[in-house]
Amino acid sequence: MSHKEVVLYWIILREGKKIIKLIKGLLEHFTEKVTEKPTNHSGTPRVIPRHEHAISRNAISPNALKVLYRLNNAGFSAYLVGGCVRDILLNRRPKDFDVATNALPEEIRKLFKNCCLIGKRFRLAHILFGKEVIEVATFRSPHKEGQEQHGHTHKGMIIRDNVYGSIEEDAWRRDFTVNALYYNIADFSVLDYTNGMEDLKNHTLRMIGNPEHRFHEDPVRLLRAARFAGKLDLKFSKETEAPLLELSYLLQHVSGARLYQEVLKFFQEGATLPTFRLMQKYQFFHSLFPATALALKEEQALKLLEDALANTDQRAQEGKTVSPTFLFAVFLWHPIAQQMKQNESETLPPYPALEKAIRSVLREQTKILTIPRRLQMAIHDICLLQHRLTCRHGQTPHRLLNHPRFRAAYDLLLLRAGSGESIQELGTWWMQFYAGTHTQRETMIKEIHQSRAPSQKRSFRGRKKKSKTHPIT
Ligand code: ATP
Ligand code: MG
Repeated sequence: MSHKEVVLYWIILREGKKIIKLIKGLLEHFTEKVTEKPTNHSGTPRVIPRHEHAISRNAISPNALKVLYRLNNAGFSAYLVGGCVRDILLNRRPKDFDVATNALPEEIRKLFKNCCLIGKRFRLAHILFGKEVIEVATFRSPHKEGQEQHGHTHKGMIIRDNVYGSIEEDAWRRDFTVNALYYNIADFSVLDYTNGMEDLKNHTLRMIGNPEHRFHEDPVRLLRAARFAGKLDLKFSKETEAPLLELSYLLQHVSGARLYQEVLKFFQEGATLPTFRLMQKYQFFHSLFPATALALKEEQALKLLEDALANTDQRAQEGKTVSPTFLFAVFLWHPIAQQMKQNESETLPPYPALEKAIRSVLREQTKILTIPRRLQMAIHDICLLQHRLTCRHGQTPHRLLNHPRFRAAYDLLLLRAGSGESIQELGTWWMQFYAGTHTQRETMIKEIHQSRAPSQKRSFRGRKKKSKTHPIT
């Protein structure tokens, strides 16, 4: 080895770390440049002029219009995009209004006093108008081929989404074609890059790009597919439907917090029954509520759940509120009742057997969905009240009426009776008691007391006798 070579090796050994850092830095710099620069797609959108579509400004929230106009007057392009455009075209009232623009987050902030920037990976602007929030997002670019290791975890979840792009790129990174229509405030036209308008006319839900790849990229899209098809009465395109069943396992890799958010949306959209049936069909339900899915093999359990969902949809359509807590209690009731039976067979009395069952079913369920503690406690109370409602002596029924969870527990009791559980007499009694005057209620309690055999009266307090035909199970 020559003297020069020895010196070179010595330098490499001493400065090795620094050199590696330098190379890494150069590589990162180079990669950033490539990812931030949008690629030029040659495709031009189909432009649907104002007179050829049904979006009227009357259907758009005045606050969303304000945002669109201000961006546009400041020289930026501004579009309504996503669910709001889709819903107006379907003659439905949008839940919220999302705006897409070429303005950067900082530029948006300068235009609106009532703006806050949120998000670490991708900065979004929220423009606040009292309770209404208009979300404004700068056009994003999809991840390029070969960058998957940066954009996703090995389980397929998106972990990086911070690359700005052109409107066309923004369109192609969206999930379904019907969600990628852009209403242009500059001339009131609709821009359609993905043939979403045609799909909307044909009531078709079609994933943009390769469905299998896109579901892998973000498995929550599986639930979104079921939710949109259920609530908007859309049929899946053949290619979109094909991988649904075999990819349902991907849901296991989604975080509990994200799944919980999706379940809340599912509960609140007025179409829980058709969506539930789709989730059953493609086995998504099994990934979300495994214990319930097992219990649904029993006819009564399925009837209870479907009746509850039908009532929920009816309520939502009448503009009434829907209680996620109640629906969770309904979903978990049969697994809890089965577990309780098991606990009773291991010689626990009914009340502790039920309490133990509730705790264990909730523990398992919250490993999958991050149900907040407050909701868990309410679900616990509703299920426990199923036992307490069987106690109809003394002041107990009056006290139960004042329980904060009485109404939900009562509704569950009636649903159980309606689904064929042998608690019809109990259900009817509570219906009359609830509707009765104070005097009528007193009479009902007396009648119950008199109808009891003397031995039952004596043993009631201590609950020493264990009823074999307990009304809960
Ligand atoms: P709704 O608000 O009525 O449930 P939406 O389509 O507006 O439906 P949002 O969750 O508000 O749904 O998302 C707004 C838009 O963002 C969608 O229409 C879609 O274009 C895009 N989007 C949302 N989530 C995803 C996702 N996981 N993958 C790709 N695009 C998405
Ligand atoms: Mg939306």
